[in-house]
Amino acid sequence: MLSLKVGESVLELVQGDITMQDTDAIVNAANKELAPGGGVSGAIHRAAGPKLWEETGKIGGCATGEAKITYGYNLKARYVIHTVGPVYSGSPEDARLLRSCYLESLKLAAVHDVRSIAFPAISTGIFGYPVEEAANIALAAVRDFLLENNNISLVRFVLFGDRDFDAFRRALAGLRS
Ligand code: ADP
Repeated sequence: MLSLKVGESVLELVQGDITMQDTDAIVNAANKELAPGGGVSGAIHRAAGPKLWEETGKIGGCATGEAKITYGYNLKARYVIHTVGPVYSGSPEDARLLRSCYLESLKLAAVHDVRSIAFPAISTGIFGYPVEEAANIALAAVRDFLLENNNISLVRFVLFGDRDFDAFRRALAGLRS
C-alpha cells in the first residue's frame, strides 16, 4: 500500500479487488448501457447481485465522461458510482474525457456525503487506454479535486494486477516531485 496526503485527505494505492472494498462508495468502469458486461463491471454486478442491474437498467445509460450513482446492494460499499471511460483512440479528447470521469465521480460522491471512495483504473482494460498515461491523468484529477474540496477524506485506487499497480506507483512518484 502506498499513500500521499493531499490537503486534508489521503490518496491511497493498493493492489486488490475493488468488489471487496469497504469504502462508502466504489466506482465502476461502466459501459454506456450500464449493463453488467465483462471486466470490472461484470465483477461488480456479480458481487452486488441482480438488484444492481435492476437499478442501472432504469437509469437509461450514461454518456462517456459522465457518472451516475446507485446503491451497492450486497457489496460492503453503500454506493456504486458508474462512470463511462473513453475507448482509447489516440485523440486529445481521450484525456479530457478520462479526467472528466474522475472529477464527475468525485463530485457525485461529495453530493451524497461519501467520505471514502475506491476507483479502478478506468479505461485501461477493454477500452485500451495505455496504463501509464491513464495513471497520470487519474492521479492528477484526484489531486486537483482534493486540493479544492475537503469533504472526501480517502480516495483509494484499487489496481488489479502488477502492471497497473506499477504504473500507478510511478505516476504517484511523479506527483510527489
Ligand atoms: P474499461 O472498459 O474501462 O477498460 P475494464 O473493466 O476492462 O474497463 O478494465 C478496467 C481496469 O479494471 C483494468 O485495469 C482491469 O484489470 C481492472 N479490473 C478488472 N477486474 C477488477 C477488479 N475486480 N477489481 C479492480 N480492478 C479490476
